Amino acid sequence: MSYSGTVHCGHCYNKGHNVRGCPALKKEALANPNSWNAQKYARIEESKKRVKVCSYCGTGGHNRRGCEKSTEHKVIFRADLKLWRQAIQKWTDDTGLKIGALVRAHVPYYDTNGEYQDPQYADSYVSAVCLVNNIQLNSISHYASIATANEWRAQPYDEPAMLMTTRVGAEAQANHHKMIGLGLPCIAGIVPQFGVDHWDRAIDRKNHFRNIDWEVVSPGHKPIDPEWISDKSLSDGVKRAFAGGKDAKDNSDFRELSPEQRTQLRMYVDGTFLLNELIDTSDTKEK
Ligand SMILES: [Zn+2]
Ligand SMILES: [Zn+2]
Repeated sequence: MSYSGTVHCGHCYNKGHNVRGCPALKKEALANPNSWNAQKYARIEESKKRVKVCSYCGTGGHNRRGCEKSTEHKVIFRADLKLWRQAIQKWTDDTGLKIGALVRAHVPYYDTNGEYQDPQYADSYVSAVCLVNNIQLNSISHYASIATANEWRAQPYDEPAMLMTTRVGAEAQANHHKMIGLGLPCIAGIVPQFGVDHWDRAIDRKNHFRNIDWEVVSPGHKPIDPEWISDKSLSDGVKRAFAGGKDAKDNSDFRELSPEQRTQLRMYVDGTFLLNELIDTSDTKEK
């Protein structure tokens, strides 16, 4: 379509139709079945027969960009993401989780003598104490709070760990021994510990997600950039979650916070509830 709003045909250059409805092309194709124009005409007719199916909701008659279901889901996703990020921001303030914090981590590691420390062997195990060098939150979303979402169970393989830390006392060790990545822990009322898998079996997130059992023992000094909750950053989060293409998510991947979760997060963010007053709501199961 031209700027004036009139359709021009790219084949015969007349107004009022485009190449998909060009009478001249059709005439030429029929008159000369072996011509290049006949092939072009055949391709166009073939594409008209194909039923257009939306890659998001799976129904016909529109595509991903014009999908009403997707638009509706994006609005919910964005509101949930914003509320969740506000709550996580508050949690980092309340716990002192900032760059420079010291955390005690119940994770496997190689100690200074090169001995493997494994928390499963409780008798001899000593927790690692780690200095927080970097906090990376952009790749996690409120799906980490929804016990039927993959993000709740495990860290995406291609994403950096939420916390990058260096173990105190490991200065002389090789990087891959002294650097310890930690994930989002279970936080009562924010990130539930118990949920169900695809087969509806009860699971404990601590058994599925590596390196999430840790707590702040000494607060840090550099808070998270509030840019994390800006409109632009939220829009980027929505765009990433609903992007089309080869690895596009669809309808069935969509999740939302439960009304109980939302109420509790809101009351935590506005100061009505303290962190230690939050509880996991029981209906984390998907209906
Ligand atoms: Zn034409
Ligand atoms: Zn659709």
